[in-house]
Amino acid sequence: MSPLGHLATTYIIAFAFSVIFNVQMSWYELILILIFANFIDFDYLIGRIFGKKGEAHHGFITHTPFGVFILWLIFVFTVFYNSSVEIKVLLLITMMAHLVLDEIQYILYRAGIQPDTPHKQINWLYPIHKHKPKQLERKKAKEIAQKMKPLLISESVIILIAILLFVWNWVS
Ligand SMILES: [Zn+2]
Repeated sequence: MSPLGHLATTYIIAFAFSVIFNVQMSWYELILILIFANFIDFDYLIGRIFGKKGEAHHGFITHTPFGVFILWLIFVFTVFYNSSVEIKVLLLITMMAHLVLDEIQYILYRAGIQPDTPHKQINWLYPIHKHKPKQLERKKAKEIAQKMKPLLISESVIILIAILLFVWNWVS
């Protein structure tokens, strides 16, 4: 999923969470949630330094539930130490949701919605079990990108919903 798609989904989850559980959230906290829910994608830059491109960073420890949990603990005791328990829980939910969204292509494929993209991204059971995400050749990656219509459509819808919610929240 694109960074914009990640931001949109984080916003929708944060919005729904605050409405359902009646959680008070400041604009400052919302912005922090948007940033730190997607913080793990900075491992992309680290990957680039070591010559790894594309989705290879999904195979790093930072893109596992284990790594996310460790980072969440660090964030909770540093950036979010002043926030309510609800906001801390919301941060964990949005960070884990990031992993699900990075796997969405494979999930859609398994559900029979997305054709021919059978490459798993996330090491869900790390450190108990670890698979190496396949580095796709450029040609194959291009072929797959052309078949990603269901994913692109659902991502566009998510971004549109997030924008509408944001505007509605802003004016009301
Ligand atoms: Zn990611």
